[in-house]
Amino acid sequence: MNEKLDLIPLPVSVKTHDSVFRSPVLPVIEGGSVFQNEIDLFKEQLCLYTDQSGAGSRTENSKKITLVMDSSLAAEAYTLEIRPQGLILKAASPAGAYHGLQSLRELILSSGRDDGIVLPCAEIADYPRFPWRGFMLDCSRYFYSTEFIKKIIDALSLHHINVFHWHLTDDQGWRLPVQKYPLLTEIGSKRLEYRYRDMYSGGFYSREDIRDIAAYAASRHVEIVPEVDLPGHTSSVLAAYPGLGCTGGPYRVEDRFGICEDVLCAGNDGIFDLADAVFDTLAELFPSPWVHIGGDEVLFNRWDACPKCRKRLEETGLTHSRELQSWITVKLARMLSERGKTAIGWDEILEDSEQYRLPEETAVMSWRGRAGGLAASRLGHRVVMSPNTEGCYFDYRNYGHHEEIGRDLVSTAAQCYNMDPAGPEMTDSEASLILGGQANLWSEVIYAGKIAEYMIFPRICALAEALWTPRDSKNFEDFKVRLPVHQKRLERLGLLQYRGPLE
Ligand SMILES: [Zn+2]
Repeated sequence: MNEKLDLIPLPVSVKTHDSVFRSPVLPVIEGGSVFQNEIDLFKEQLCLYTDQSGAGSRTENSKKITLVMDSSLAAEAYTLEIRPQGLILKAASPAGAYHGLQSLRELILSSGRDDGIVLPCAEIADYPRFPWRGFMLDCSRYFYSTEFIKKIIDALSLHHINVFHWHLTDDQGWRLPVQKYPLLTEIGSKRLEYRYRDMYSGGFYSREDIRDIAAYAASRHVEIVPEVDLPGHTSSVLAAYPGLGCTGGPYRVEDRFGICEDVLCAGNDGIFDLADAVFDTLAELFPSPWVHIGGDEVLFNRWDACPKCRKRLEETGLTHSRELQSWITVKLARMLSERGKTAIGWDEILEDSEQYRLPEETAVMSWRGRAGGLAASRLGHRVVMSPNTEGCYFDYRNYGHHEEIGRDLVSTAAQCYNMDPAGPEMTDSEASLILGGQANLWSEVIYAGKIAEYMIFPRICALAEALWTPRDSKNFEDFKVRLPVHQKRLERLGLLQYRGPLE
């Protein structure tokens, strides 16, 4: 273990001492009732993975981990003192305590097994650089099980990643049950796999599944931001309700990948009835103040040719059908605002929005490089950076070799590590609008959870450090020195990892 304790992400400050803390089993953990959820969960996490099944119960175990409320700390901050006689973790909130316990979980996962827990004595003081540290999983192109989603959320939280962006709908499958529109899941969740002939694949998450995952994530201080992609990437909606398209169909849940011409008809008021029902469902199931409304890759040729869309253009006083996208975005953002929610969308939502300006609170997720995020921050919008040009697209190969899994583009761990959501090119006021960043795993070429793990780890470790650690403390060479120890921890969590070159 080096003087930084091989922690990832690297804490703000670590001071190590020569002495060690030893305990044959997990020590007794004490803390006020405000931290009880974090304490119970920590014991559960270590029972599962470290064979410390007698946690805190053996009589010779006299050492303690003490959690202390310290309201002088920032919301997500913690301090951890490891002394020979015991550990003291201070935090101002359950979230801060959780982050501190996850750093401790890392240390325990990499300490010896046979002689119990052995930790170098140290003082750690830590807090995040950005409030939004995210990861997106595309559950439309591949339908991941609830068990897999939980496994990933737990592993994300080990790295202090605190946003799980759940991509629930796309051309290839609608995964969200909406009671007023039952065909969205009855028809829209199933696609015919032409590759395998006559085999339907798909599925959807039940309301119980969603509540279960939401509670699981919340207890780990991970916020789930649900996404329903509108008005493009909606073949699954159109297959279920063909009247919502410009041509009336027929449509099918797509088995092909790419951008489809058919999108929701901008001249049909029924699309807002649908959005009403969908947003009601999201508001009921997800506590997050954010709803991601997609907005990416809309083609406008159907709107150009559609009489209803032409009529809408006249009504709205717009000139080009592409401007109808921001007209729709503004309506959706207002509908969410009525429900106490804030809209966030892909950076296309800013395009052609001069006539129908997006509400200032609408946030932008910059994926086509960082230009969209920069433009949005100049207009006063909050921004999440997720540039596909800087390592944030985990469906791209880890390394530029044709035997690697993934799309024929590359996102290296080094790119991801060096991605700075609020780079030096920004003014202070622009940088103040940057919420953080995230990585996205699109699943067109990911056919199994195990493949997803290979694409996520260890790139997410690099991203976690890019979003948590102060800019001046970041050092990729040092990260590479710490990574092998950290990868052993991930191994103990049963995660498959990419092991090749990192840059
Ligand atoms: Zn139309």
